[in-house]
Amino acid sequence: MSVIPINVYGDKILRKKAQSVSNIDFLAVELIKNMFETMRHANGVGLAATQVGIDQSIFVVDLSQVEDYEKFKPMVFINPKILDFSDKKVSIEEGCLSIPNVRYEVQRPESIYINYFDTNLKEHTLEADKFLARVIQHEQDHLNGVLFTDHLDEDAKKKLKKSLEKIKKREIEIDYPIVQKENLRLK
Ligand code: ZN
Repeated sequence: MSVIPINVYGDKILRKKAQSVSNIDFLAVELIKNMFETMRHANGVGLAATQVGIDQSIFVVDLSQVEDYEKFKPMVFINPKILDFSDKKVSIEEGCLSIPNVRYEVQRPESIYINYFDTNLKEHTLEADKFLARVIQHEQDHLNGVLFTDHLDEDAKKKLKKSLEKIKKREIEIDYPIVQKENLRLK
């Protein structure tokens, strides 16, 4: 397994819509293993393939390091589709491995209903709430080229502008590998 450098704010791949996955070959299995390794190494709870330069509709989630989720089993979501959102919305602070050192409260539906495939391409439907629903919505956004900062109001965007510009220029201190300049991994 290996840790893959993560793409950060400003990189075009993060704005790309991921392609649907039609089969799980050896490379996809390797990618998923490496995504888990990369996420854990950076102390993340979720990671989408687009964040490591691959425009495939895959994200991974592991909440086992989060309080009250100690028994959580790592999950892989392939070709996920959120089918329904609760009317009730909640505000929770979010961060993103692609937007290092920036955290902000984001309002999103409290619970969701999601359809996805596992690594055997078996179909599942899951009702998720609270923190899991939050992480899933954040990762699903990545597969649509959306970042959590896109959800903020103009005031908040203004406040974060400087930090985001710095990330674009790689003027950041960070203890996990990032893609230094967007390279040719974007097809
Ligand atoms: Zn993210």
